[in-house]
Amino acid sequence: MENISYKIMKIIENDNSTIFEASCSCCHPDHSLQLVIEKDKDISLQIYTNTYYYEEYDKNNFFLKLYKRIKNAIKLIFTGSLKIESDFLFSNKKQIEQFIEAIQKTKEKYE
Ligand SMILES: [Zn+2]
Repeated sequence: MENISYKIMKIIENDNSTIFEASCSCCHPDHSLQLVIEKDKDISLQIYTNTYYYEEYDKNNFFLKLYKRIKNAIKLIFTGSLKIESDFLFSNKKQIEQFIEAIQKTKEKYE
């Protein structure tokens, strides 16, 4: 599995679990996925990511941005949740193949 390196990095590998960190192709430092592949009675794959509220791509003026902030804050205060969109970009075939290979080879190791 030494050839898995294009935008995906193995963090931990032991007898029961392997953790990879995958980088988003947009290169934003906060965009990454952590893949946790574990063997228990069966093999599981968990994907973790952090999601943030950003305004850097919001082209609205200051007052519309402020309105959206207040609206979202009120929604969070009164409902306890706030839906935020996030994405993770695979920009080319090689990155997709490396991602699949990391999962496939780790799955085969634990079978
Ligand atoms: Zn990204």
